[in-house]
Amino acid sequence: MEHVFPTYQRFPFDLVKGHDCYLTDNNDKTYLDFTSGIGVCSFGYSNKIIQDSVESQLTKIWHTSNLYESALQDKVANQLCDDDQLAFFCNSGTEANEAAFKLARKASGKSTVIAFNNGFHGRTYGSMSLTGNPDIKTGYSPMVPDIVFANYNDNDAIDLITPDIAAVILEVIQGEGGVNVGDKDWLLKIQAACHNNGVILIVDEVQTGIGRTGTKFAFEQFELKPDIITLAKALGNGTPIGAMIGKKEFASAFGPGSHGTTFGGNKLSLAAATGVLEQLTPEFLSDVQSKSKTVWNFLNDEIKSLDVVTDISGLGFMIGIHLDEKKVAVNDIIAKLQTEGLLTLSAKYNTLRLLPPLIMSEDQLLEGLGKIKAVLQSETVLTEN
Ligand SMILES: *Cc1c(COP(=O)(O)O)cnc(C)c1O
Repeated sequence: MEHVFPTYQRFPFDLVKGHDCYLTDNNDKTYLDFTSGIGVCSFGYSNKIIQDSVESQLTKIWHTSNLYESALQDKVANQLCDDDQLAFFCNSGTEANEAAFKLARKASGKSTVIAFNNGFHGRTYGSMSLTGNPDIKTGYSPMVPDIVFANYNDNDAIDLITPDIAAVILEVIQGEGGVNVGDKDWLLKIQAACHNNGVILIVDEVQTGIGRTGTKFAFEQFELKPDIITLAKALGNGTPIGAMIGKKEFASAFGPGSHGTTFGGNKLSLAAATGVLEQLTPEFLSDVQSKSKTVWNFLNDEIKSLDVVTDISGLGFMIGIHLDEKKVAVNDIIAKLQTEGLLTLSAKYNTLRLLPPLIMSEDQLLEGLGKIKAVLQSETVLTEN
């Protein structure tokens, strides 16, 4: 990778082929995938409906500008929105959050946004400025002004929500920040404070959305009704797409010329998204929930008590196994699991993060979890010696 900026720490192999929930590298080694990209390929690597939809679009037209009507944008917006919501299409999670940030300031006529420590919203200036992780901001100051950080799941945050605030942005489960699950009562208090003070509630569902936690949006399980929702990752199963969904009452703040993107809402990504959303049925989601029970039983019964594990957090197919940093480094565990033919991820605070494709069978899930148990168990033996 001689002429590529070294912005990523890369493992020394290239994934060149995929089928079902398996990936094959350039050395012909095959892995079971517990990553889905990073929560992207929830329907795996050979989903016929998505593939047919993209292939059929490929033969018609790839790109038009946003100067014309788009039946495909209408279709996906209808699949995503309630009656009182509108969608804006873009290409990534960070762009969805930029759109949300801009809309919230313009619609409210106010500027200050409350965000949370350990939150992650993306890498462009607005979204980076909203991200509660100093490591990501090093060297890039000054940040976008008028952003206030509070501690997640901490009641002190509620007192910060006053009529002067434009918006609050949060993830209901902080993904990159360590798979930290929001406390339902706390989230409901935040929402109530937003409502009482005329503050816009933005929920970033870029990682948690599109079935990842067992419901279409994770906030459903916390009984929230956000004013703005942002999506990306799994929406296109690997084609670049993001979306911001907001209340219809904000329409006048996002009138013609007020925001835009050349590629946003492109037809290839939308063709993939229609394939994703038509399969995200109540039956599909209840199957994800039932497989999740098996997964969480195994995690609680077989993995939680291992010596190197301090805690397990998450919901549905979004899992964080917290490893004792005095005993093991998560990147060593990831490398050992790769040797065993399993791909996994990390998150902040030495967390082994699992985001398997939602289509994965119970047998495949248990096979992967068995490998994790074996590797973590062998670490215990090593640390005892
Ligand atoms: C990945 C992620 C983003 C950023 O998405 P990109 O497509 O990488 O810009 C934003 N918010 C959350 C919660 C994410 O997990």
